[in-house]
Amino acid sequence: MTSIYFGEEHESFRRTVRQFLESEVAPFAREWEEARRIPRETFRRMGDLGFLGILFPEELGGTGASIFHALAFLEELPRSLMGGFVASVSVQSFIATGALHLHGTEGQKRRWLAPSIAGTMVGAIAISEPDTGSDVAAIRTTARREGGAWVIDGAKTWITNGVEGDFVVVACRTDGDAGAGGLSLIVVEADTPGFSRTKLRKMGWHSSDTGELTFENVRVPIGNLVGGENEGFYLIMETFVLERLVTAATSIGSTRLALEETRKYVLSREAFGRPIGKFQAIRHRLADLHAELEAAAQLVYHAAWLHERGENPVAEACMAKLLATELSKKTADECLQFFGGFGTVEEYPMERFFRDARFGTIVAGTSEIMREVIAKAAIDGVTFPKREAGEAAPAPEPNPGDLAPPAPFDGAAEPAFEAGETFAAGDLVPDLFEADVTETLDSVFTEVSAAAAPAESEPVSVEEFPAPDPEPPASPLEATEPSFFAPPPSPAPVIHDVVTLVTGPPSIAMKLPVPANVVELFETLPIRFRPDRAAGWNARFHFRFKDAARSDWTVVIEDGTCRTVEGHDGTPDCVVTTTEKTYLGIESGQQSPETAFLLGKVKVSNIGAMTKFGRAFRKVAT
Ligand SMILES: Cc1cc2nc3c(=O)[nH]c(=O)nc-3n(C[C@H](O)[C@H](O)[C@H](O)COP(=O)(O)OP(=O)(O)OC[C@H]3O[C@@H](n4cnc5c(N)ncnc54)[C@H](O)[C@@H]3O)c2cc1C
Repeated sequence: MTSIYFGEEHESFRRTVRQFLESEVAPFAREWEEARRIPRETFRRMGDLGFLGILFPEELGGTGASIFHALAFLEELPRSLMGGFVASVSVQSFIATGALHLHGTEGQKRRWLAPSIAGTMVGAIAISEPDTGSDVAAIRTTARREGGAWVIDGAKTWITNGVEGDFVVVACRTDGDAGAGGLSLIVVEADTPGFSRTKLRKMGWHSSDTGELTFENVRVPIGNLVGGENEGFYLIMETFVLERLVTAATSIGSTRLALEETRKYVLSREAFGRPIGKFQAIRHRLADLHAELEAAAQLVYHAAWLHERGENPVAEACMAKLLATELSKKTADECLQFFGGFGTVEEYPMERFFRDARFGTIVAGTSEIMREVIAKAAIDGVTFPKREAGEAAPAPEPNPGDLAPPAPFDGAAEPAFEAGETFAAGDLVPDLFEADVTETLDSVFTEVSAAAAPAESEPVSVEEFPAPDPEPPASPLEATEPSFFAPPPSPAPVIHDVVTLVTGPPSIAMKLPVPANVVELFETLPIRFRPDRAAGWNARFHFRFKDAARSDWTVVIEDGTCRTVEGHDGTPDCVVTTTEKTYLGIESGQQSPETAFLLGKVKVSNIGAMTKFGRAFRKVAT
């Protein structure tokens, strides 16, 4: 089918990949499946051929190619005739290495990413645990600081490349009280004392090693932290779109291959004096599968196209993953039927296709979780805003030619959520929000310490404000000046309070009532200030509440004091844009801070500074 997405350069790359797989991989499929491993030499060979760094920058040995080169590669991978090979290579070249690419330091990239691209190292990503899979926020594996080291304790399971891999990017809990906002990604190398692994035996994907990992007092250098401390959840979330596109694309490839193999078989196998492919009962079913394949493929390409444009196709990627993996499962089942008894024997590829196709609807977010996300978009009207031009990108070191990093949510669209709504796992970022959210503002901006905060010292450019909500204005003042693009002149700054507090740990008894409006909020904020948590830190924050009559506020933290000023005063280190309703909802524990941030209900220009801000204030009573 002629494509608007794939040109000759992609097709030529596709032919190269196919030739390699058919000559150097597929002939060994049975051997590697039985050995339950892929020879390391094959990774090195793929590294030499440039297959393991398609989206990574050239300076690290990658190709810096487009997402459609990646899709061509991924669609061909099933020609290895091993779902396990597909999984292992996909994890190596797109998933385990994703956070290192976007958020790793130069040293980390040199140590783990460049060798992964070269195929001299194999990587894994360990998120799932014996007690939690879909619900990432429930991770229990802990990492605590001890001197210059992280000390890790816990267990992971189902980890692809977990046993043979040279390093594992491990999702650990570094803050026990902070839910999703208390996770961090830490690299553990294979030979680290206390780190042990065992291989699981599965019904399919035999050639990929799937490991159970145990961490007992595992000490790794502090520098093995990828991205910021307690930002791990957001780094994981950030890679979801690509991970789902990867799984969708390989499922499209395996469906196409299954149909090709079936076509050959039904045209050669005879029954009642004619090829079985002449029976209408079979032809129509194959015709349906072909039609579904093309529809699913086009959705995968469309989602990939949106992704490459820098959109944030969360729902589209989930739709693509859902349809493609479910179709692959159905096709393998139906086609096995057309092979009759031969479909069940190991000499024919259908037997393995059938077993291997079963995994797609479980890994990279289950079909149920995909439906949850899609339902949020389709039924609840949730939108996933894209990054605006000029907005701080999540990747600290964006590389031209790379995939545009997934966009942070920018608040441009106000989704149809109400304060007080709780979210089940799989809401937006399916694996995160399980329980009612009880965090208060103290933890809010700890929680929103999303991926790739710009350095705190970075200058902040004050952003364009999003268009006003379509809701009726909340006050007479706003009614006369409804647009934030032309806000009323701010009144002269009024200093509300200057408080120097004694240092000391917070106590429940010191919690203040939830403020009723932003005026109360800013009047009481200095009283909640904790100078012990802001030692040596001076910072200035500009707040804008889109729906409040007194919309603009400045918070100044300086020399162990906090003061609030009405209006925007001085040059901010961080600009926060939200609505009064959202902010107070967060304060009262009715609005999930993560959700508010992820949906763009709270827009923060400097997440590193905001994280620190969140820690510097006592909780309000809830
Ligand atoms: C071969 C293989 C390789 C894997 N590789 C990796 C890897 O490299 N790294 C890694 O971290 N993980 C890996 N995984 C784990 C995989 O990501 C999880 O299996 C998956 O996320 C599901 O988690 P779970 O198995 O714990 O199921 P659970 O989360 O316990 O779910 C069980 C069932 O409940 C359903 N369910 C859960 N929540 C909801 C909800 N809110 N609404 C409706 N239904 C729901 C699920 O859809 C599922 O049907 C791998 C798994 C397999 C099988």
